Amino acid sequence: MRFSSNIKLYVLLLIVGIFLLLGYVYFSFFTERLNRTTQSGRTLFCFSRRTDVVAVTPWLAPIIWEGTYDPVLVDNIYKPMNLTIATTVFAVGKYVSFLRDFLETAEKHFMVGFNVRYYVFTDRPHDVPSVNLTQGRHISVIQVPGSNRWQEISARRMEIIQTTIESQISRVADYIFCLDVDSKFHARWGAESLGRLVAVIHPGYYEQTRDHFPYERHPASMAYIPMDEGDYYYGGAMIGGFVEDVYTLTKICRNRFEVDAENSIEAAWQEESHLNRYLLYNKPSKVLSPEYLWQDFKAKTKEVKVIRFSGVIKNYAEVRPNV
Ligand code: UDP
Ligand code: MN
Repeated sequence: MRFSSNIKLYVLLLIVGIFLLLGYVYFSFFTERLNRTTQSGRTLFCFSRRTDVVAVTPWLAPIIWEGTYDPVLVDNIYKPMNLTIATTVFAVGKYVSFLRDFLETAEKHFMVGFNVRYYVFTDRPHDVPSVNLTQGRHISVIQVPGSNRWQEISARRMEIIQTTIESQISRVADYIFCLDVDSKFHARWGAESLGRLVAVIHPGYYEQTRDHFPYERHPASMAYIPMDEGDYYYGGAMIGGFVEDVYTLTKICRNRFEVDAENSIEAAWQEESHLNRYLLYNKPSKVLSPEYLWQDFKAKTKEVKVIRFSGVIKNYAEVRPNV
C-alpha cells in the first residue's frame, strides 16, 4: 500500500515537473518572439522600454523621450510627405550674436532631410551671419523694431509671429516651430516632434509638483491659473505645431497680453505665463520632454539620456538692453 502511494506521489511530481518545463519552454519562446528584431536591428515589439519616465499625458498625448520611439520608422513615415517646417527665431539687439551657433547647429541636427524655412527677426539685418545651408533650407530675414526692454522684445514675439504667419508663413509651411535664439542643438530634433500643437516641458520644473509651478497667480491677469489646476510647466522657448494651430495660439496669447497691458498688468513670466494658461485649456497633442529644452547651466539628470536643444549660459547684463 505504502509502496503504491509513493509511486503515485512520484508520478504526480513528474507530471507537475513536465508542465513546469513545458511552461518555461513556451514562455521563453514567446518572450524571444516578442523581442525579435528586424533585419535593421530594430525591435518589433515591446519598443517602449522606459520605465523611469512617463511617456504619455493624462489626455493620451505622447511625451517624447529618447527610447520611446523608433527614429528610422518615424522618418520613413514623414519624409515622403515632403513637408516644409517654418522656424522662427528672434535676434533683437545683441542677441544677434547667438544666431551663428543657433543656425549652424540647427543645420546639423534640426529636421535634417526636411524643407526648413528659417524666419530671422532682427533690428540688425546686416549683422545676420551667412551660414551654409543644405539643400531645401532657406533663411528669410525680417526687420523688426528694437526695444529698450527685454520683456517687450520677448513678449512681442507672439504678435510678430501671428502677423508673419498671416502674411507669409501660412502659404509656404505645414508646421512651425518658434524657438529661442540663445540656444544650440546638440542631437537629433526630428519628425518625432511633429504634431498638431506641440509644447515642451520646462527643464526646471519637470520634477516638481504643480504647486511649485511659476504660473501667474493673480486672478486679475488674463494668464491666471488657480493653484489646483495645471498639467505641466511648459517652456516659452519653444512652441510648435500645425501653422494654423500655432496661429490661433499666438493670436489669443497676444490679445490676452494686450488686455493685461491695458490694465497695467505684466504676467509673472510674460508670454510664457500666457502660453501656460492657453495650453491648460487647449491641451497640446504632443509634449516634448526636457531633452528638447535643456539649460547648459543645469547638470544632466539620469532621465535625460540625450540633450537635443539647450539654452547657452549668457551674461544677462551684457546681452539684454535692461536688467
Ligand atoms: N530676445 C531678443 N533680444 C533681447 C531679448 C530677447 O532677441 O534683447 C529674444 C531672443 O530670441 C531670446 C528670446 O527673446 O531667445 C527670449 O529671451 P531670453 O532668451 O533672454 O529669455 P530666457 O530664455 O533667458 O528666459
Ligand atoms: Mn532664452
